[in-house]
Parts: sequence; structure tokens; C-alpha cells
Amino acid sequence: MRIVLVGPPGAGKGTQAAFLAKNLSIPHISTGDLFRANISRQTELGKLAKSYMDAGNLVPDEVTIGMAKDRMEQSDAAGGFLLDGFPRNVSQAEALDEMLKDEGMKLDAVLDLEVPEDEVVKRIAGRRVCRKDSSHVFHVTYTPPKTEGVCDTCGGELYQRDDDSEETVRTRLEVYHTQTEPIIDYYKAQGLVVTISALGKVEDVTGRAMKALQRQEAPQ
Ligand code: AMP
Repeated sequence: MRIVLVGPPGAGKGTQAAFLAKNLSIPHISTGDLFRANISRQTELGKLAKSYMDAGNLVPDEVTIGMAKDRMEQSDAAGGFLLDGFPRNVSQAEALDEMLKDEGMKLDAVLDLEVPEDEVVKRIAGRRVCRKDSSHVFHVTYTPPKTEGVCDTCGGELYQRDDDSEETVRTRLEVYHTQTEPIIDYYKAQGLVVTISALGKVEDVTGRAMKALQRQEAPQ
């Protein structure tokens, strides 16, 4: 399957993407993770991306689309993929459609994770992410690690993302509403959108998502 995951910052896209990709045996492609990997390797792309990310803004399409395309062209993505954080505006969505059309492919579903805004703010303020694997995500109150600052799953160091500060989160939400939300209507016009609530336990949300994707795959 070729799936796009959308939802506001803090909806749990990264966490859900990791589980769904595993269940569906497709690679999880996160443009945010690709940028963060470039930042830690101190590449030119990383240096450029960091200034936009730290401010909560989108990295320009010129670099983002090329980076996403390169990743989607790798052999593990030939049979499908789960995109997390791409596309993030209508021009990226149009570029993705073009890319797929050129290869004779199309998207199967756009999974929209819905979560109320006050919950988003609470989730992001307490979020702690593992440095070794960004799909290992904890929350200081909701899902604290057994030892403070240490990942339960792999022992990696937990940290607060630079762009999870309160001020940056406000910008990221604004960017989500103005630039990313319009892609939901864009994909609704193609009959691809399935919306589920992202509230509740991680495994319950994964279950809801799997059911919704199966319905989309085999319409009545
Ligand atoms: P994420 O990990 O998906 O929350 O992304 C973190 C940050 O990376 C975003 O706030 C943007 O600055 C940048 N980013 C990730 N994906 C994209 C994209 N598709 N287009 C532009 N910027 C992106």
C-alpha cells in the first residue's frame, strides 16, 4: 500500500507510523526524521533545514521534494510506503501525484489523525524522544519512561526536540492549519481520506487505523 499520514504536530504520527509500517511490511518514510538525520550528520541540507525547523516553519519545497523523492526511489519502497510528514502543503501533494503518475502508481489512502488542539499542546509540551530511534516516544506525565531520561526500549537518551518549545509549537500549529490542512480537501476530492480519532491508547489508535485502512483497501 502507498499511504500518507496527516495530522497536527503531536497527533502521534511518528508513533503510529512505526506500528502501521511494521504491520503492513512497508517502510516508514518521515521527512522530519530525514531532516534530523541530516542535522546530526551536519550536512549542507541539515544546516539549511535546521533554521526553518527551529522556527517551526516548513523547509522550502525545492529541497524537501527532492529529498522525499530520493527516499521513495530506494528499492525497499518499490512495493509501497507510509509517508509521515510529507506532503505538507498542496504543491508537495501535486509533486507527489506527478512522481507517482510517472511510475504508473497511485496512493491508496490518506490517513487523517484527528486530535483536539488543547490535547496537542499538552502532548507536545511533555514529549520526550529517543536520540537513537525517534519512533521511541515518551511523555513525562502520560507515558513516562521507567528511568527518567532513558528510553525503556533501547536505553537511548531521551530529549526534548528543539522545535517542541511552546513558542515554536504555536507556529507549527499555525503552519499546519494554513498550509497542511488544505491537502485534506485536495485528497478528499480523490476519495482517499480516512479520518480517525487519535485519542486514547497507542494500541487502540493503531487498531482503529488498521481497520480504516483495510476498509479503504477493499471498498464495499
Ligand atoms: P516532523 O518530525 O514531521 O514534526 O517535522 C519536523 C519539522 O521538519 C517540521 O516542523 C518542518 O520544519 C520540517 N519538515 C518535515 N517534513 C516537511 C515537509 N514535508 N515540508 C517542509 N518541511 C518539513
